[in-house]
Amino acid sequence: MADTMTGACNCGAVTYSVKSESVLTYVCHCGNCQKRSGSAFGMGMFIQVDDLTVEGDLTCWERVSDTGLTNPRYSCATCGNVICGLGDYTPGFAKLMPGTLQDTRDIRPDVHIWVGSAQGWVTVPEDALQYYEQPTDIDELLRLVVENLAKAAEKAT
Ligand SMILES: [Zn+2]
Ligand SMILES: [Zn+2]
Repeated sequence: MADTMTGACNCGAVTYSVKSESVLTYVCHCGNCQKRSGSAFGMGMFIQVDDLTVEGDLTCWERVSDTGLTNPRYSCATCGNVICGLGDYTPGFAKLMPGTLQDTRDIRPDVHIWVGSAQGWVTVPEDALQYYEQPTDIDELLRLVVENLAKAAEKAT
């Protein structure tokens, strides 16, 4: 994978670069992500917020979660394409919308969350790490992702 990832919004007014690799990529099947994407699920890629450089005008909308956490979400001021979100839940990390990356071919989700809310036609791969709702402990999740990656590497050899 390239050292720097780059991406842009739908209209091209906002561009960004990320100078480190993602920590983990998730698929979220919750109703809120379905609404935001206007589609079947949302995807997010955790990156270190200090490694993200954005150019162009963004607008911010703060969604307050059911548990009272504030989740600011940043979109292109021109076309409205969501670029990334931040959250009290994951300090230090930005949730990048991986579909806005220039190169999306190598994206592989590490985990599926809120699978209990998935649309009826969606089949989550059986061997995928998955949570019925939201994982409560981000450290546990990261540990599980590391384990999962090690397992996959074992299988491949
Ligand atoms: Zn735009
Ligand atoms: Zn969601």
